[in-house]
Amino acid sequence: MDIKTVADKIIAGDRRALARAITLVESGRSDHREQAQALLEAVKGAGRQAVRIGLSGTPGVGKSTFIESFGCMLTAAGLRVAVLAVDPSSNRSGGSILGDKTRMERLSRDPLAYIRPSPSQSQLGGVARRSREAVALCEAAGFDIVLIETVGVGQSETMVAEMADLFVLLLAPAGGDELQGVKRGIMEMADLIFVNKADGDLKSAAMRTCADYAGALRLLRKRPQDPETFPKAMTVSALEEEGLSKAWATMQELVDWRRANGFFAGTRAQQARYWFDQDVRQGLLGKLDTGEIPELMNRLGEAVATGEITPSAAAAQALAKLSE
Ligand code: GDP
Repeated sequence: MDIKTVADKIIAGDRRALARAITLVESGRSDHREQAQALLEAVKGAGRQAVRIGLSGTPGVGKSTFIESFGCMLTAAGLRVAVLAVDPSSNRSGGSILGDKTRMERLSRDPLAYIRPSPSQSQLGGVARRSREAVALCEAAGFDIVLIETVGVGQSETMVAEMADLFVLLLAPAGGDELQGVKRGIMEMADLIFVNKADGDLKSAAMRTCADYAGALRLLRKRPQDPETFPKAMTVSALEEEGLSKAWATMQELVDWRRANGFFAGTRAQQARYWFDQDVRQGLLGKLDTGEIPELMNRLGEAVATGEITPSAAAAQALAKLSE
């Protein structure tokens, strides 16, 4: 089937075409890569824009429960929801920990929802690029909301923040001193912090944790892309479906403000530059593993180790070969 036909099917909302297209962008084969690029160009014309929400949190905070409840609330309102995962730890042997359909049973049966299991890849750079392209495909397919989930392990959060319009950090109620467990860099990325499990015995702890984070957020530098009162911390209960409509209203408030003030498009433009830069860097790094380069690196490495040549002279030789 030619690229144009596949693109038209995706734009028309054909699920199987979308699933196959995502498999194509996830493939490492160079002929697939070319087709994927042509397909991404072809769907771009659809000119559709979803709200891309990045969601991060350590295992056990309730990400899948939240996505299930939140996603079902959105589909009940008639919105189409896609769920993708950036899973830094997944590879064939270890198995995937995110995006698993069985975790979100109700949502996965919902005709307005599409849940994509995470790709199996060991290299985070590659995973991120493919996820970003999968987001673009879902957007072209007409989803209103694309949720991009990741586990909190540092670099993957940066990647997700760079492909999202909104970045949400999900936390669980904690003892007072656990505030430091969230790195400052991650706090700085968050547009919203949701303290989950604000129900039953955990409710008062959740409210305390929320107040602590609200205080911590106030101490951060004001960002131009934030209206007054943002970033913000709120309590939710994914299990009891409490606070979810308020959470959604708050997200919409932020998106509307950013749209009205040029920060929505501005952030996407910046992100496009970021990914262009990343792709070039990844491509250059990839060159180290191709052709005669690994052998040359090995040889020069030996020569450096024995003192035959200085590290900088050897590096100059390797770089000269790379730029041939
Ligand atoms: P994930 O690892 O972040 O995806 O977390 P899960 O969604 O699998 O949830 C981990 C555990 O926390 C499960 O036992 C859930 O039932 C529980 N959980 C999730 N959300 C809530 C909530 O809002 N309240 C309470 N009390 N438990 C929750």
